[in-house]
Amino acid sequence: MARDSRYDILFEPVKIGPVTAPNRFYQVPHASGMTNALPRVRAAFRGMKAEGGWGVICTGACSVDPSSDDAPLPFASLWDANDIRAHALTTEAVHEHGALAGVELWHGGASVMNRASRLAPLSPSGIPWMATHVGFMGNLRPRIMDKSDIRAVLKWQAEGARKAREAGFDIVYVYAGMGYLGYEFLLPEYNHRTDEYGGSIENRVRFVRELIEVTKDAVGKDCGVALRVSLEELRGRPGRNLPSEAHELIELLSDVPDLFDVKMDSSPTDCSASRFTGEGSHEPVIDFVKSLTKKPVVGVGRFTSPDTMVSQIRRGVLDLIGGARPSIADPFLPAKIREGRVDEIRECIGCNICISSWHDGVPVRCTQNPTAGEEWRRGWHPEKVAPAANREKVLVIGGGPAGLEAALTLGRAGHDVTVADAGKSFGGRLAFERTLPGLSAWGRVVDYRLQRLQQMPNVSLYLESRLGVDEVIDLAPDHVLLATGASWTKMLYSSMEIPVGTLAHPAVFTPDDIRDGRLPEGPVLVFDFDNYYYGGVLAEHLARQGLYVHYATPAGQASAWTIMTNELPLVARALKDRSIPVSTLASLTAFDGETATLANLFTGEATRLSCRSVLITGLRLPDTTLADAFAQREADWKAAGIRSVRMIGDALAPGAITHAVHSGHLAARTLGEDHGHAAYRRDTPIVDRVEGFSLLAAAQ
Ligand code: ADP
Ligand code: SF4
Repeated sequence: MARDSRYDILFEPVKIGPVTAPNRFYQVPHASGMTNALPRVRAAFRGMKAEGGWGVICTGACSVDPSSDDAPLPFASLWDANDIRAHALTTEAVHEHGALAGVELWHGGASVMNRASRLAPLSPSGIPWMATHVGFMGNLRPRIMDKSDIRAVLKWQAEGARKAREAGFDIVYVYAGMGYLGYEFLLPEYNHRTDEYGGSIENRVRFVRELIEVTKDAVGKDCGVALRVSLEELRGRPGRNLPSEAHELIELLSDVPDLFDVKMDSSPTDCSASRFTGEGSHEPVIDFVKSLTKKPVVGVGRFTSPDTMVSQIRRGVLDLIGGARPSIADPFLPAKIREGRVDEIRECIGCNICISSWHDGVPVRCTQNPTAGEEWRRGWHPEKVAPAANREKVLVIGGGPAGLEAALTLGRAGHDVTVADAGKSFGGRLAFERTLPGLSAWGRVVDYRLQRLQQMPNVSLYLESRLGVDEVIDLAPDHVLLATGASWTKMLYSSMEIPVGTLAHPAVFTPDDIRDGRLPEGPVLVFDFDNYYYGGVLAEHLARQGLYVHYATPAGQASAWTIMTNELPLVARALKDRSIPVSTLASLTAFDGETATLANLFTGEATRLSCRSVLITGLRLPDTTLADAFAQREADWKAAGIRSVRMIGDALAPGAITHAVHSGHLAARTLGEDHGHAAYRRDTPIVDRVEGFSLLAAAQ
């Protein structure tokens, strides 16, 4: 199909210093959880996006020196020859498809704890970053940099740039954002210096300017030099001559780097979840940058619509369309626009599970794209599935995320696929959840798959078709996938911090009751020990129906796990906006239809709340009725010619939607194999030591 000429502008080349991006699709630096210990996994992950048409592909934060050590969080490094070789795999993979490779050289300053290197962290004035942020920070405070420390960081940056060029990178970054060292010099809260690096905005910018200058001196003839800078805080500070200090910073540096990569200051605003923020949310902060520099500007905003992208360029907001999450969810987004296949874009849903992977310290996972991170180790391609050697009949029971993903992948392989679902619409849990406050974008998981499936002649879709073993035996497919989901239980939570017992009372509800349209009588106590989004979202949902809602959890915060997805602070605000009180460290011990008793998890101290009903969002268990029936009738279904019956998704192990989608994809790629433990290739670090090389010498 021909490309829509409205989108031609997106495919224009853009000059970045001495190098030229082939188009305006720019995968900005983003964490992948793939350190130098996984060089092939990383190269294949980044290379796939180049294959999909992104014109520039960047690494995540790449440390220039052991004094910038984020362990145990995953980070890359360019410290020694082995690191150069590890990165060279990525630049080769990117260049193979005509894209440019960028490296985000990084010094974390006070934001790192140097837990592995055990070096004292560096900072402008000894001010720590998020010192009380459990899980990120430790109890070591940074030391104050003297002039020789400043000179050392500049030297490491220049050396890092030269190593980057040797590794094949075309664009080299200076990083002054997100609380890291360059940023700490820019912000007066971190920078209390009285020398030429502190005080006025000119002085606070000096260190960043010098970082750019040494990078240009080192590699500026061959590589584009980019400045990545966070502008949110500075935009809020009045400037002396211009509207804000952000304006003054850009004006001071307007000719210095070859590219401005502009962003927000903290992960929750920079990578905000769709539950609370829409596409293009950075614009009010970064919209002025192009008016103060002639250099190209890249920025992000979870852009998935080509019309929005064109509008950003035509209105003079951005020159390059930055993408992190949209490039993970669909590495082939540019190719689909180029080829007039816009309706095939697998749009990011803004759930931030990818970000949770980094917090977990593992390679990136994506709800929409189950092949992310699996390109090398399992050989999965996001768009291609090898044609099946034998076309087989596969019955998928359940059309939720797991069933739909399995059907799509099987359909692409050319199998004869039937999906039967008991419900009135496809989507499984999402059929209801997508109607809840803030979750409409999650419906893309269903829509993307359903639209593809509806166009496949080898796939049949049936609704209102509850199947049991007898019906399946009559249909006699070659393979059966049970994607029948899980159910919420009324189990409570013990002081041993495990689900225990059941609260039996007619006015006790589960999320499945709410889905089925049973509205509790208010006041309602929502007791949440699932701790992800659902308890908080349902509390909002019930409050919207006009019910008085009280939220309680054994965790320390409402929807505690959402700290992993950048949503936690916004959940607290959303509950407050709906006047929903929150009790934390609370365990529900009794309910008699009038009063609920909460006990403090640690002290046992009891509190009584007046409420007419309780909604427990706690433990989910797989619905095993069908699986048990299949186990009992094995001889019968085998006699009917059915060769395999396998559970997938929540029916196998209840989890987030990302788990269900991955499970469905895995089952389809390994159809008929004995079990789900399909082996994957194990990556190894590159350890070809160079004769006489000394890491300590390199770190001086
Ligand atoms: P997952 O997240 O694993 O995809 P969901 O709970 O989202 O699981 O979806 C399970 C789907 O399976 C639901 O749409 C439900 O209607 C359907 N289902 C459950 N049991 C049967 C059955 N016996 N026959 C057909 N569909 C079923
Ligand atoms: Fe988007 Fe969610 Fe995938 Fe991240 S995990 S890229 S937010 S769909």
